[in-house]
Amino acid sequence: MLNRPDVAVVGAGPVGLAIAWRCAQRGLRVVVHDPAPGSGASHVAAGMLAPVAEAYFGEHELTALLSASAARWPAFAAELTATTGVDVGYRTEGTLMVGLTADDLAEARRLWAYQQGIGLPVTPLRPSALREREPALATRVRGGALAATDHQVDPRRLVPALRTAAERAGATLLPAAVRRLSDVDARVTVVAAGCGAAVLTGLPVRPVKGQVVRLRAPGGGAPGFRHVIRGYADGEHVYLVPRRDGEVVVGATVEERTDTDVSAGAVLRLLRAAVDLLPELAEYDLVETLAGLRPGTPDNAPILGPLPGRPGVLAATGHHRHGIVLTPITADLMAGLVATGATDPLLAPFAPARFGRDPSAPEEEHTWN
Ligand SMILES: Cc1cc2nc3c(=O)[nH]c(=O)nc-3n(C[C@H](O)[C@H](O)[C@H](O)COP(=O)(O)OP(=O)(O)OC[C@H]3O[C@@H](n4cnc5c(N)ncnc54)[C@H](O)[C@@H]3O)c2cc1C
Repeated sequence: MLNRPDVAVVGAGPVGLAIAWRCAQRGLRVVVHDPAPGSGASHVAAGMLAPVAEAYFGEHELTALLSASAARWPAFAAELTATTGVDVGYRTEGTLMVGLTADDLAEARRLWAYQQGIGLPVTPLRPSALREREPALATRVRGGALAATDHQVDPRRLVPALRTAAERAGATLLPAAVRRLSDVDARVTVVAAGCGAAVLTGLPVRPVKGQVVRLRAPGGGAPGFRHVIRGYADGEHVYLVPRRDGEVVVGATVEERTDTDVSAGAVLRLLRAAVDLLPELAEYDLVETLAGLRPGTPDNAPILGPLPGRPGVLAATGHHRHGIVLTPITADLMAGLVATGATDPLLAPFAPARFGRDPSAPEEEHTWN
């Protein structure tokens, strides 16, 4: 067909928009389908770019991909800002990982030892050195470590910037849901629909609920701390992400649930842990409570590459807790695959085929709500 796009991207979250941008930059005709761009997990996400703090036991291939993508972030953010004029809130002060009690510190140290053991830059700090870096930390905090290379970006600035960049490069956004992949007419279809990918592809992507609280520093100023702080506080895991505009994101629960209700108990636990680590937060304004659904997978790693038994369909989903940090590398590798048909070796461990989907499985009707 004359006007047939080269690429249809299903989903205008960070992943879909960044792929659309990179494909359009390569001169491909790109259409992006989404009834509510930016309304998925990215609207709730904290935006930590944390390959070090998020390196968990046994996830070697995922850790390598996170590190490779984080390394692309400085150039990616600079290019996005140069293209769109949008400051995406990329900050490089680093991340402090702290333990409130002796038990918390013992748990944290086990993970830091693992992270150091695989060569990641984790620098243990005494309480005095911690408080030199962040005087607002509670005096009760027993110890911590610095992950200097774990940075942050503001997803609520990032997604509109990606949309602008993709559109300026020539991509077109169609504000409608895709109900069946067979309804999409393009040379290549990239399914980047976050949790919505499961019903379209049959891939094992499941929603993992996360509740967060957003606070704002009083008086319109910046928060009284600069690093991202990730802490263990009486057995609760919590992170505090300060933005220059005064916002602080406090997160997050990890729940095997599909609703986006906010519970009083979760807010109570998050705020108690946050104030235990940083007492001044009790004086901040409470501006928002909300929950989002991470696109989780059985091995916590994304699903990137050709869908078995479906020629011309590629998956870029299942980014779970890491979709923001993985945006640059996902976009680069997927655009390369679309344009050349060649799979970069970096993609190999993340192929959809690792889940052995039955290619003859019938496609289900997708009801949008
Ligand atoms: C509480 C919380 C905290 C997080 N913190 C971080 C963090 O600090 N760092 C990090 O890297 N990641 C974080 N994440 C994870 C991150 O938000 C996700 O991995 C990321 O948003 C995935 O991007 P995506 O574009 O694949 O999906 P999404 O952001 O979910 O976007 C999917 C898009 O697809 C659209 N869509 C769905 N179905 C269809 C359909 N049938 N047709 C058309 N469009 C469709 C939706 O409308 C949506 O716009 C967090 C997530 C949560 C919930």
